[in-house]
Amino acid sequence: MTKPTKPSLIQSIRGMHDALPSDTPAWQRLEAVLRELMASYAYREIRMPSVESTALFKRSIGEVTDIVEKEMYTFEDRNGESLTLRPEGTASCVRACLEHGLLYNQQQRLWYMGPMFRHERPQKGRYRQFYQLGVETFGVSTPEMDAELILMAARLWKQLGLADEVVLQINTLGSNAARAVYREHLVNYLRQHAAHLDEDSLRRLETNPLRVLDSKNPDVQAILHNAPRLNEHLDDESRADFQRLCDVLRAAGIRYEVNPKLVRGLDYYNKTVFEWVTTRLGAQGTICAGGRFDGLVEQLGGSPTPAAGFAIGLERLLALLGEAYGEAQASAASPQVYIVALGSEAEREALVLAERLRDTLPAVRIQTNAGGGSFKAQFKRADKSGAAYALILGEDEVKQGQAQIKPLRHEDEQIAVAFDALADYLTGCL
Ligand code: ATP
Ligand code: MG
Repeated sequence: MTKPTKPSLIQSIRGMHDALPSDTPAWQRLEAVLRELMASYAYREIRMPSVESTALFKRSIGEVTDIVEKEMYTFEDRNGESLTLRPEGTASCVRACLEHGLLYNQQQRLWYMGPMFRHERPQKGRYRQFYQLGVETFGVSTPEMDAELILMAARLWKQLGLADEVVLQINTLGSNAARAVYREHLVNYLRQHAAHLDEDSLRRLETNPLRVLDSKNPDVQAILHNAPRLNEHLDDESRADFQRLCDVLRAAGIRYEVNPKLVRGLDYYNKTVFEWVTTRLGAQGTICAGGRFDGLVEQLGGSPTPAAGFAIGLERLLALLGEAYGEAQASAASPQVYIVALGSEAEREALVLAERLRDTLPAVRIQTNAGGGSFKAQFKRADKSGAAYALILGEDEVKQGQAQIKPLRHEDEQIAVAFDALADYLTGCL
């Protein structure tokens, strides 16, 4: 008889990560802060499916963008339909709004939060499943709308103590018509210098020339130094709107840098674009990115509708908040009371007592010892749980209708408290 082989372990997909119990308190706290922020600006939540028709992303993000060319998780479902795991939320959000008539003759200020999927090379701050908070507004074309989005993000950094860690970069891409004219000038110029362009830039030159501006290659950047500038080809309206945006930001005391090379990787942007960047996360320094996308709704079959929004990468934001933030949230989530029970009668009583305490103190985190164990073993677990108090039940205590309360984090005496008085007593010391 051959020895049965031990089944091999199946691992998670590269670039897709578990959030472990020690990580989730930080996630939950951050998500709560974001929800409260959205509520304080009266933005409403929308939830879209994680899978959409492939055509939705091709048509909105653009055929010749990094995302559509090489990053999408696209597959055929059992009916042969081409589906894609959403690489971002804006297209889905517009699709949902159009499908349910949310854009007709009305303004919308919306947000969503959830996983996005991109087949990128995994590295620090770059994953294949990652989480975004997305914020989108529809029906408002004024630069004050753009400013509100920026102010909202600025408030978040302040709340999280990150105001000094991030820098706001803004730019305007102008109208689609103005950008088309500029594009021709840029292509003419770059063609003259084609010999000095790298492969990536040559490819972009043919497909999406504005993205050449984004190149990180120093040789390419050197050539761009004398290239025609987008801001010399802006239409009057975009120029005036950008000025108004800058005025609001100055009035609100928001510091910004104008970055004329900021173009964003997606096709649908026009006019205002912005990014919040940090130098503390290495190459993956953009934690929030957004802008105006007035043409997208029409491109997806709706009536012309001005729109603007942004997305925040939550992993990068958590990385910026750092380990101390994670640890603080984890310890704030640990049990406050740990019930030690010795003997089967006490074990039963412990469960009943815990329920009664939760009835009166629903906000207190109570953990009952499970699986028995010696007094010493149970105390070890109580200590490790992070609880501030151990509540001890033995045979005698059960008979007398009381529990011993022992502080685990300071030297105070252990005292006996009657079951009926426990809730009041704990309220006093927690
Ligand atoms: P990058 O230039 O870093 O590739 P992007 O322009 O592709 O970013 P957006 O599509 O604008 O990013 O997404 C908004 C935000 O989502 C980014 O600023 C970033 O914080 C986050 N993000 C994007 N891609 C990833 C990823 N693969 N892993 C983790 N976070 C990501
Ligand atoms: Mg990208």
